[in-house]
Amino acid sequence: MGKKQEIAIGIALQTQVLKTCPIHNQLYRDDEAPADDENMARAFGVAIELVHRYKPYAEEFNHDAHQLTDLLSQTLGAAPVSCPDCLAQRYSVKEQSGKRASAGP
Ligand SMILES: [Zn+2]
Repeated sequence: MGKKQEIAIGIALQTQVLKTCPIHNQLYRDDEAPADDENMARAFGVAIELVHRYKPYAEEFNHDAHQLTDLLSQTLGAAPVSCPDCLAQRYSVKEQSGKRASAGP
């Protein structure tokens, strides 16, 4: 993972646009959160502020906040809507209960 990507993910986590599964440590987007758009706007605000105000970020992104906001939206677009491992687990549980139901008493 590149440093720029790390910064983008850091912002996303800080503004809670991206979350980390506590069980599998996987990044995902929480689409069910009602304040999602608000968080997203906040994430872009933080990104722009970092590049404008702080030298290390400015240097990393060549004083161009758009580079960071673009990367941020790419990162968000690439993230799954829920933890893929949790989803896989949920499906396998469903399958098992289905088999049990069809076996019947
Ligand atoms: Zn998980």
